Amino acid sequence: MSIVYIVSAPSGSGKSTLVNELFKMVGHLDFSISYTTRPPRGSEQNGKEYFFVSREEFEAMIATDQFLEHAEVFGDERVRGEYYGTARRFLLEAEARGNDLLLDIDVQGASQVKAKIPDAVSIFILPPDREKLEWRLRHRGEDSEEVIRRRLDTARREIENYSKYDYILVNNLLEQSADELKDIVLAERLPRSGAKPSGEEAQRVATAQACRLEQARERVQPILASFHPQVVKGT
Ligand code: ADP
Ligand code: 5GP
Repeated sequence: MSIVYIVSAPSGSGKSTLVNELFKMVGHLDFSISYTTRPPRGSEQNGKEYFFVSREEFEAMIATDQFLEHAEVFGDERVRGEYYGTARRFLLEAEARGNDLLLDIDVQGASQVKAKIPDAVSIFILPPDREKLEWRLRHRGEDSEEVIRRRLDTARREIENYSKYDYILVNNLLEQSADELKDIVLAERLPRSGAKPSGEEAQRVATAQACRLEQARERVQPILASFHPQVVKGT
């Protein structure tokens, strides 16, 4: 059975960067290329980062039950979001190859997958705080001002869901965060046989443990607070 890893993060947290680093370091891991109705950004290519399809094509795939999960992302009462979805065939193909599968999906998709695959390992990546998230979104230079505002607004809501995840990774220093992500992935692969792990494996397990939700709650509080408007004292 393949291990399914779910990685979610508010847009701009550095998830794609970290996932790219992970794939350089870890083998036997497939990336599930999602389908989306949003237009390509920057240098994105069809079939590499995403399969870019029309709403009609996406809805036809929903109707024929081709998705393991799908969601409308960045919508609200006024604006319709874009569809994003994970095709079932990616899991079947990873299994056939004997590989694990990594899903880069949003909070809504993550809870759909967890409901269907309770053993899936879920990882939530957080930016160090709101200010740094805004900085990263602006410096990525790929989104309009309106889209950046909507992403920050969505981030505030998404972050509230951190406690639904198994692991929390705060992406402060890139190299360290990439190593932590690798350690979580590799620690989850260690057999549960009770056999004594090697020194390197034991270190990996310790790093992964430190990222477990229960250990991370305190670290998350100031990050959550940075996303909420300041309460002015005395008013
Ligand atoms: P996401 O996939 O979460 O939307 P990206 O991977 O596109 O985010 O990262 C957003 C921007 O932040 C990019 O310009 C990226 O180079 C930068 N970035 C990623 N991780 C870090 C980090 N640890 N420190 C500083 N900048 C980072
Ligand atoms: P972006 O437009 O920045 O690439 O992605 C926007 C959001 O959609 C991210 O949170 C990303 O994880 C999420 N996303 C990407 N693919 C999927 C998918 O297949 N399903 C779901 N539910 N979310 C996805």
